[in-house]
Amino acid sequence: MIKKLLLSLLFSGVFCAVFGQAIQSPEKFLGYKLGEHFTPHYKIVEYFKYVAQASKNVKLVQYGSTNEGRPLLAMFIASDENIGKLEEIRQNNLRLAGLETVAGGSTPGTPANKAAATSAAGSTSAPVICWLSYNVHGNEPASSEAAMWTLFDMVDASNARTQPWLKNTVVVIDPCLNPDGRDRYVNFYNSVAGQKPDANPFAREHAEPWPGGRINHYYFDLNRDWAWQTQKETQARVALFSQWLPEVHVDYHEQGYNAPYYFAPAAEPFHKVITPWQREMQTTIGKNNAKYFDQNGWLYFTKQEFDLLYPSYGDTYPIYNGSIGMTYEQGGISAGLAVLTRTGDTLTLVDRVAHHHSTSLSTVEVTSAYAEKLLTEFKKFYDNSRANPPGEYKTYVVKNDNVDKVNALTAMLDRNGIQYGFGLKNSVNGYNYSNGKNEQYEVGPNDLVINAYQSKSVLLNVLLEPKTFVTDSNTYDITAWSLPYVYGLTAYGVKESLKPATATISAAKPQVLVNVHAYAYVSSWYSVNDVRFLAALIKNNIKVRYSEKPFEAGGKKFNAGSLLITRAGNDKADFDQTIARIATQLNQDLTPLMSGFVEKGNDLGSDVIRFIRQPRVMLAAGDDVNSEAMGEVWHFFEQQIGYPITLVRYKDLSRARLSDFDVAIFPDGNYDDFPSDKLIGWVRDGGKLIAIQNAAAQLVDKKGFLLKRKEDKKDDKTDSKTKDPTLLSYNDRDRDALRSSVPGAIYKINLDNTHPLGFGLPKSYYSIKLSDDIYDFLGSEDGWNVGTVKKDGLVSGFVGQKSKEKIKDGLLLGVQSMGRGSVIYMADDPIFRSFWENGKLLLSNAVFMVGQ
Ligand SMILES: [Zn+2]
Repeated sequence: MIKKLLLSLLFSGVFCAVFGQAIQSPEKFLGYKLGEHFTPHYKIVEYFKYVAQASKNVKLVQYGSTNEGRPLLAMFIASDENIGKLEEIRQNNLRLAGLETVAGGSTPGTPANKAAATSAAGSTSAPVICWLSYNVHGNEPASSEAAMWTLFDMVDASNARTQPWLKNTVVVIDPCLNPDGRDRYVNFYNSVAGQKPDANPFAREHAEPWPGGRINHYYFDLNRDWAWQTQKETQARVALFSQWLPEVHVDYHEQGYNAPYYFAPAAEPFHKVITPWQREMQTTIGKNNAKYFDQNGWLYFTKQEFDLLYPSYGDTYPIYNGSIGMTYEQGGISAGLAVLTRTGDTLTLVDRVAHHHSTSLSTVEVTSAYAEKLLTEFKKFYDNSRANPPGEYKTYVVKNDNVDKVNALTAMLDRNGIQYGFGLKNSVNGYNYSNGKNEQYEVGPNDLVINAYQSKSVLLNVLLEPKTFVTDSNTYDITAWSLPYVYGLTAYGVKESLKPATATISAAKPQVLVNVHAYAYVSSWYSVNDVRFLAALIKNNIKVRYSEKPFEAGGKKFNAGSLLITRAGNDKADFDQTIARIATQLNQDLTPLMSGFVEKGNDLGSDVIRFIRQPRVMLAAGDDVNSEAMGEVWHFFEQQIGYPITLVRYKDLSRARLSDFDVAIFPDGNYDDFPSDKLIGWVRDGGKLIAIQNAAAQLVDKKGFLLKRKEDKKDDKTDSKTKDPTLLSYNDRDRDALRSSVPGAIYKINLDNTHPLGFGLPKSYYSIKLSDDIYDFLGSEDGWNVGTVKKDGLVSGFVGQKSKEKIKDGLLLGVQSMGRGSVIYMADDPIFRSFWENGKLLLSNAVFMVGQ
């Protein structure tokens, strides 16, 4: 009898539960049904750790941690046979891409795939990799709950549906890409919810306070950061991702709670590098999801809204890396545990979790069904990339007239696995990014040279092509991001394939020469590194000056803005050692001068040598402020230049002691009663107000401020014409709105770099325009028109016809003297998403140089 019972147990799923190590479901482990509560991040971590111990089919990796110290996890799930061979599977997959690396990682900048060339080609009958990324936006929390359920189904040996998939599929689950944001939301919700969820949309639990959980600790949208990797979460994740390069990747989201579920295929525009296979497979996967939604009667849509263009999303970035990258969206933002939707139905977290769980399983299922085809096409993608790179240009040459900026660019290329070298033996004929003309250019030995014949040529093309081809301008995000403009570097696109002369730069690391007899030290001023150096000097109580004009000394030429550290005023015993220590730490090039008598220009005692007062900086924060714009400034000060900044809530400004600050930065926002008399009084007393985007727009026509909106009478005429009801069809209403849209285009600005706001920058500056804000030239002697745009300023990206007519002959960067203080107007965000490198010096000039 007992024997018989044993046998029957052996052949049923119960066997595991009774004799083996039964793995607890999330429900059992957490003590509640998924969807009944929001699970805090630490409990999700506990569940993943528990499964890592209980299951022999997983490997848990902590690949990083957040700014607030929460762990970032990836769980690898594979069959009995494959789990011990994960490293082999990973290497095989990279071999398919031609990116196999020797142990210890790749050599940055290596021009050829040496390792790949000598090793055997990867096998396409190996397991395929399916990577599921949950909860990148913290306040779209249903997906991390679904991640636990999906994990359980994958490791549950009694699950007859999922287990066969693992034979040819390795599943990777990242349960939460943005733990800090998730907990900000979950802690909020759990702290305000009553005993029962209130489905009334106006109940407090559906109104998240500023800044909301979408963004990370520094208020960055991590689903705009994949290619740039400005945030530590993204840096860690993309480093792991690049070691694996999955064939399928899903990025889980939630959208407004009235919307039905969205899954692939995505909407137009698609970037033209996206292959027919990638399109086709999106549809195949979408149809498999649809099958289960149809069975359950759940509503969904595809092919609308979510396009595939901007390269820094969780769908496009994997796509440009050969994967089938997709975004899935459940309706649910602000829905809490339950909310009444427009149609009078109650949407619950239980529903939302079920939908994400369904697409998770469905995606793994279809990945497994197409495993060999996915691997074959993945290999083909990379073979094509090397043999037949997309795009007009087969070589890109970037002039190295700013070593720090080129270093920042190559660091970014390294992070993305793009190979490069330096110098060419001959001159080239190429497309000059700055003037749009074809020109002959003599390539210098330190110029950056990128050959397109390499595995990552698709991503390279997307990031480097001067203009992105947009089939349909109704896009979700910016339409221009070409890296030479982003970094403000001169570049050439060359149609021939040319190999760089050397793999590494020949310039030696700067040697810090200190001399106890030096009269002064000079440092350049043209990069974020120089700003970081200045910040460190100030923090060490070293007095620093800058030259308002260019000069020549010690046999070198120095730009306006160059930093001078004189012994005068810094006369302490450890002066030279302190300078040497800071310069060495920051890899800063310093020139000692033995005399204050300069060869050309003004002597060091001249009044054009200005003392840099240590600015005490305030940043407006809180309800009226655009959190992401604020976060960029916060991150820049804390993480990039290391300079103190005080965040003050805008509504506390009336009570704050403004005399504690020298500089006040107002990022984009919608400020109530701006500027107050108190703020104006503070400026007149010597304060410096930096107003960016809508903060600047709000100063238009205010008493004492010179800023005026640029009038364009022609526009009004064309406007009345199009508004003629006989000409406008209802169906075209979205198209019509596009006429006055600037989704994010690059403009070339003429910069007065003799003004402190333009120090260290070339005579032209590339700005990313997100709106058609433009102003009249400041007409008074108190106003300086530092950044202006002419007729043909548009360089790259889509701009609606009406806005195109507006953005010309006007002011985008201005400085006004007001009493003893000054006001700086910036129409655009100078450090957009922190990837806009070019503007970081501009913002620094505003803080440290203007008005000294
Ligand atoms: Zn989202």
